[in-house]
Amino acid sequence: MAETKLGKLADRLRTFSARPGTKIMEVCGSHTVAIRRFGVQRLLPAGVKLVSGPGCPVCVTPDLFIDEAIALARQGATITSFGDMLRVPGSRSSLERERAGGSDIRAVYSPLDALQIAATTQKETVFLAVGFETTAPVIAAAAQLAVEKKLANFSLLTSLRLVPPALKALISSDTGLSGFLLPGHVSAIIGRQAYGFLAAGRLPGVIAGFQAEDIISSLVLLLEMQNKGIYKTVNNYARVVRDQGNERSRSVLAEVFTPADAEWRGLGSIPGSGLALRPAFAALDARKRFAIHADSAPARRGCRCGDVLRGLIDPPACPLFNRSCRPDHPVGPCMVSSEGSCSAWVTYG
Ligand code: SF4
Repeated sequence: MAETKLGKLADRLRTFSARPGTKIMEVCGSHTVAIRRFGVQRLLPAGVKLVSGPGCPVCVTPDLFIDEAIALARQGATITSFGDMLRVPGSRSSLERERAGGSDIRAVYSPLDALQIAATTQKETVFLAVGFETTAPVIAAAAQLAVEKKLANFSLLTSLRLVPPALKALISSDTGLSGFLLPGHVSAIIGRQAYGFLAAGRLPGVIAGFQAEDIISSLVLLLEMQNKGIYKTVNNYARVVRDQGNERSRSVLAEVFTPADAEWRGLGSIPGSGLALRPAFAALDARKRFAIHADSAPARRGCRCGDVLRGLIDPPACPLFNRSCRPDHPVGPCMVSSEGSCSAWVTYG
C-alpha cells in the first residue's frame, strides 16, 4: 500500500503536522459518504477534525416544504418527486405515508418524467423541485419545456438552494471552521470563480472529486494552505470543473429562476440562497396556483439535524442516533437520504 500513489498520499495525510483545532467541513453529501466509505476519517492527523456541512438537499429542506407537498396531495394534486423525498418526515406525516393512505404520489427520476405524467393524466401535477445548482438547471429546462408545450396542469413546488450563500452564512456564524472541502458536482456548474468570498473570510477551499485519491490529496492541500496562511480556492478536480463552470447550465438557470431568500434546516433564513421562478414562469409556481393549507406542527423534539448540518456536532452526539432514529426508521432527514450524515455514519461506521 505504501508503495502506491494512494498509499503515499495516505501516509502524507496521516503524518501531517497540522495546526491543533483544525476543523474542515466537507460541504457535499456525496463527499460525506465517500469519506466514510473509504475510511478517510481514520487517516486524519492529530488535531484535525472533519465535519459534515449542509450539502444534502433532502437534509436542508425544512419540514414546512414536506407539509406543503402533503397538503397539495390531500387537495387532489398528483405529486411527483425524487424518491428520497418520499421518506422525509414532515411535521406530522410523510409523503410515503400519504401515498399508503391513497394520495397520488409518484417517485420519478427526472422532472421530465413529471412532465410526461402531466401530459398523459391531464391531472394537476406538481413536481417537488429540490436540490442545489447541480439539479436546478434540468428543472429549469423542464419549466421551459412545460411553457413551450403549453402544459396547463404542470407546476413546481420549489425548494432549490444555492451553496455559496450557505457557506457565507456559516463563515459569519460561530462555527470555528478552518477550511472547506468544496463540492465537485455543484462546482462543475458554478465554477471555481464562485468561491472568491472565501479569501475575504481568510479560509482556504479545495474543490474535490469523489475518489479516495481526490479526497485525500485535497485534504493535504487544505492543510498545507492552512499552515502557510494561504487563503484561496484551489480546483483539485480539473478533469470536471472549470474556473467559469458550465455557462450554458447557468444561463438556462438564470432564464427561469432568480435568487431569493430561503429557509434552511439548521441555518435559518439565508439571503439570496434559494431560487424563485421569474415572473414569466409564475404560472408554474404551485404556491401561486393553489391555496396551500399546510398543517404544520412545532419542530420534532430531540432531532439535532440542524446542529449536524452546521458541523457543530457529529451524528452520534444526537441522543436518538441509531436508537429510535435509524435508516429503516428515520426520525430526521439526515437519516433518510443515503447522503445524509447520520445515515452515512450508521452505514459505514
Ligand atoms: S440521528 Fe436522527 S434524530 Fe438525530 S440528528 Fe440524525 S436524523 Fe436527526
